[in-house]
Amino acid sequence: MNVYDSNRMVDILKPFGYTTTDVPDDADMVILNTCHIREKATDKVFSELGRLRDYKEAKKAKGEKMLLAVAGCVAQAEGEFIAKRAPYVDMVIGTQTYHELPEMIAQALGAYGSNRIINTDFPVEQKFDYLPEEQQDVTPSAFLSIQEGCDKFCTFCVVPYTRGSEYSRTVETILDEAKRLIDAGAKEINVLGQNVNAFHGEDKLGNTWDLGKLLFAIAELPVERIRYTTSHPRDMHDSLYAAHRDLPKLMPWLHLPIQSGSDNILKHMNRKHTADDYKRIIDRLRTDRPDIAFGSDIIVGFPGETEEDFQATMDIVKYTNYSQCYSFKYSARPGTPAANMGGLVAEHIKSERLTRLQTLIREQQASFNKKCEGITMPVLIDRESDTEGRLVGHTEYNQSVIMDGNKRLYGQIIDVAITNGTPNNLVGNIVTTEDKTLKDIKTA
Ligand code: SAH
Ligand code: SF4
Repeated sequence: MNVYDSNRMVDILKPFGYTTTDVPDDADMVILNTCHIREKATDKVFSELGRLRDYKEAKKAKGEKMLLAVAGCVAQAEGEFIAKRAPYVDMVIGTQTYHELPEMIAQALGAYGSNRIINTDFPVEQKFDYLPEEQQDVTPSAFLSIQEGCDKFCTFCVVPYTRGSEYSRTVETILDEAKRLIDAGAKEINVLGQNVNAFHGEDKLGNTWDLGKLLFAIAELPVERIRYTTSHPRDMHDSLYAAHRDLPKLMPWLHLPIQSGSDNILKHMNRKHTADDYKRIIDRLRTDRPDIAFGSDIIVGFPGETEEDFQATMDIVKYTNYSQCYSFKYSARPGTPAANMGGLVAEHIKSERLTRLQTLIREQQASFNKKCEGITMPVLIDRESDTEGRLVGHTEYNQSVIMDGNKRLYGQIIDVAITNGTPNNLVGNIVTTEDKTLKDIKTA
């Protein structure tokens, strides 16, 4: 979501003459787009701001200006605090106001060095209606945000406070954006939302569409691959199962966070589903799409978590057998109900549980990737590696693949014979129709 937002900020600023640079010394403005989900992410913001301050000072010494802005969820949640702790920040831009960037920049330049602009409102108008249609730098695997915010209020989570309540874009604007992305070269569309399967966008006739229906419509477009993230187990619905069953373009990999395998912890997290409900979803998806693989997010050490609760988490991980899974130590977020729950789990116990969980996840991931050795898989080449002559792509199961190849293959889906599967990625050789590697062709 932050990558999507950053790209849209670039789109907004393009008509005003701004382009992106990789070199902070060159920058007239730096926008730090931030994440507030865990404490670690927030801490990083302040250390990064300290570093950026040095660039700003260096510019000042040369008699030049550098606007420094903080955007995203830390800006939304801690705008006033940032202003106090980092007075050299010129702009604080909330998650729902970045479409107003040009005005804010004009104001900040006017007040440069004397005052700062803080805009963390949740305006009545929707920023999506004010974003430019044109998108710069469309990548082969493109993001398309269809829904934002969340009304679920899981007790550990800041998202409902930083992104606001659940909002779905209209079907028409989404399909138009999808068409433009495809025209600009996108082969894969990643449909995005904080709670993407809670999507309930309206069409022109005033009918409400769910995510399943929307995926069927996107699949009608000349796109090769479709994914969606992040989904909540409570919002799985019939047409979404049907999409997994009937749409070959919908990739056979689903990130479906469970958070905990203990019903007691799930209840205190306000997830409103049980471990068994989750297993039934996994079973049904495996029936509808037998080759599907799963990803997840898991929190260890939520307040009150006992060893027995943790074992229940290990059990559900064994049951699901994930191909990729993120896991985190619980981090208390100010203002969330869990932060006041008591029953805190000691840091060393959290660490020890995380290690056990990650060992299991790594074994599952390694075994999934190992099974791919000797198989030829279609891979979307979506990144050039830092090493010359090397390419990086993604399989249908969202595994990274590294291979030798010419960069003209960027943006194509090609067959790759997998030679090596490690816990983190795959290595392979590009296969041509004549079953030659690209290297053979180049030397022929
Ligand atoms: N909407 C998604 C999750 C978005 S947040 C869902 O409902 O599953 C991304 C992930 O960050 C979460 O799935 C959770 O595992 C993790 N996370 C969120 N808040 C956290 C916290 N306070 N401490 C540790 N991990 C957290
Ligand atoms: Fe946060 Fe996801 Fe729960 Fe919403 S559903 S509160 S985004 S964890």
